[in-house]
Amino acid sequence: MALMSAKEYIDSLRKMNTRIYMFGEKIENWVDHPMIRPSINCVALTYALAQNPEYADLMTATSSLTGHTVNRFAHIHQSKEDLIKKVKMQRLLGQKTGNCFQRCVGMDAFNAIYSSTFEIDEKYGTSYFERFKSFLTFIQDNDLVVDGAMTDPKGDRSKAPHAQSDPDMYVHVVERRENGIVVRGAKCHQTGSVNSHWHLFMPTISMGTDDKDYAVSFACPTDTEGLYMIYGRQSCDTRKNEIGEDGCTGIDCGNTKFGGQEALVVLDDVFIPNEYIFLNGETEFAGMIVERFAGYHRQSYGGCKVGVGDTIIGAAALAAEYNGVEKASAVKDKLIEMTHLNETLYSCGIACSCEGVPTKAGNYQIDMLLANVCKQNVTRFPYEIVRLAEDIAGGLMVTMPSEKDFKSATVVGKNGETIGDVCSKYFKARADVSAEDRQKVLRYLENICLGAAAVGYRTESMHGAGSPQAQRIMIGRQGDIEGKKKIAKALAGIG
Ligand code: SF4
Ligand code: FE
Repeated sequence: MALMSAKEYIDSLRKMNTRIYMFGEKIENWVDHPMIRPSINCVALTYALAQNPEYADLMTATSSLTGHTVNRFAHIHQSKEDLIKKVKMQRLLGQKTGNCFQRCVGMDAFNAIYSSTFEIDEKYGTSYFERFKSFLTFIQDNDLVVDGAMTDPKGDRSKAPHAQSDPDMYVHVVERRENGIVVRGAKCHQTGSVNSHWHLFMPTISMGTDDKDYAVSFACPTDTEGLYMIYGRQSCDTRKNEIGEDGCTGIDCGNTKFGGQEALVVLDDVFIPNEYIFLNGETEFAGMIVERFAGYHRQSYGGCKVGVGDTIIGAAALAAEYNGVEKASAVKDKLIEMTHLNETLYSCGIACSCEGVPTKAGNYQIDMLLANVCKQNVTRFPYEIVRLAEDIAGGLMVTMPSEKDFKSATVVGKNGETIGDVCSKYFKARADVSAEDRQKVLRYLENICLGAAAVGYRTESMHGAGSPQAQRIMIGRQGDIEGKKKIAKALAGIG
């Protein structure tokens, strides 16, 4: 099958029996729900750009499994160049959406499971690798979106999965049958889960021999029997219900077309046939899958967050221009600092790709140390970038009246002025820039700094792909302090 168009992708979601709950109720027509649709628009763009010749080189690749052209989000990286193109594609999509476009979690899971299943088979003589290749061929051929699902609720963090007082705190096998397994549990903060056709589940931590039932990786359709999702709230999310004249969300939303999405995914005794099981009790490989997935996703942030950062820098520069202060040296210097921070993140994303290495299975893996350094910087620099953006934007970003006020015909002034007239008069800065344009750019920044998109730019920068301490553990492991001690000794003439 050829690559799907954006419309075909959206239509394909309508055909699914996805079970989704929001505000305590089941959502029936979730595809057109104003709070969900912006996130679907983001994923749809991964389809639209793949069909645009201008972006084909970044957005598509030749499948190593079939030789067909596939969306890069379903590709197994064959070279360092593929790793670099992945980061560039993510920056491009960040620029075009200003949000998390969700499809990377599947891509990162594919690449982690591809190499890990090869090595599990090597040790145990299992046939996970061939199974996984068949599954991925199906995904590539049908151009599907897959949620790479890792994060369990984790319960008491001081206890291993098997030692939890509630056994469902980690996804686990509750029944083994000849033709498959039954699984129970949940995955938290699942990016794009509702918008995915399939889910690919992975363990979330390294495991010991007592955790056999928890060391499990498998795939299932999003609308499979027993799977449902509870939609995550975002700051200011109900602003998306305010629809503007053009049918898109209103100005107060900040980003009228695109949004991100997270949800709690519940597995309420779901049957998984053998052909979709990729790890089943080989506990020592749980950690390998976690590290590889996290490594790829930490690389990803050196692309997607940088693209969103580009939009923040652009919006801050516009806000300054609209205020007539764009020539002030302090403003210029802040924009330089924002650019410096943003490009440093990009440098890390590119660097860990350039230093990529082939795995035993043949696909390419990023340099783990540099990918972890990349993500560690992402836990910090976006916060400084939004601080500088807020500095440039000024307080109006959070004190401005609503779009409805700007458009209100209610008379309030002695000379017949409407609320709209008053807002447009007092919130105009430069004579040649409309109050509405100023309103739009400030709302855009508010959305990313504090609103719904702050989920993807701020808190996700902190905790997505692992919280800061997780990277520090990996940096500690990969930093080769012993090797560095030797270098120092040699130069200092010690020993
Ligand atoms: Fe992709 Fe970034 Fe969203 Fe992760 S956070 S899914 S890398 S856009
Ligand atoms: Fe993420």
